Amino acid sequence: MIKSEAKCLCGAVKITAEEIDPMFTVCHCQSCRTWGGAPFFAVKCGTKVKIEGIDKVKMYESSSWASRGFCIECGTHLFYKLKESGEYNMPVGLFSSLKGLKMDIQYFSDVRPSYYCFSNETKEITTAEIMAFFASKM
Ligand SMILES: [Zn+2]
Ligand SMILES: [Zn+2]
Repeated sequence: MIKSEAKCLCGAVKITAEEIDPMFTVCHCQSCRTWGGAPFFAVKCGTKVKIEGIDKVKMYESSSWASRGFCIECGTHLFYKLKESGEYNMPVGLFSSLKGLKMDIQYFSDVRPSYYCFSNETKEITTAEIMAFFASKM
């Protein structure tokens, strides 16, 4: 686990994450692609996250299990937060100096569009597997 800091483009929001997992994930779901215009590259940051400038953060509830946060001044995407656990997933690109990054899992691999593909060797998890996982927790 790595500790690192991040800032949005305008600097109104500063984030310190204490426990970043450098094994990052990619999500191909339509929500992530609509949100960012491309698949979502995210690092798991757990719950030990400090956010300065929280009054500039807007949360959008994108599903019944998670919300997405962004800076209301510059639009920088800040996090995907799971409701039940309070865990944060953050865009890997927010952190400028992370070491040891490795693409680990591709989520919603079955809905990955045909116009791109990554040559990285990763685990892949399908929509059905993800839905079964969340169904087991509800
Ligand atoms: Zn900003
Ligand atoms: Zn997604």
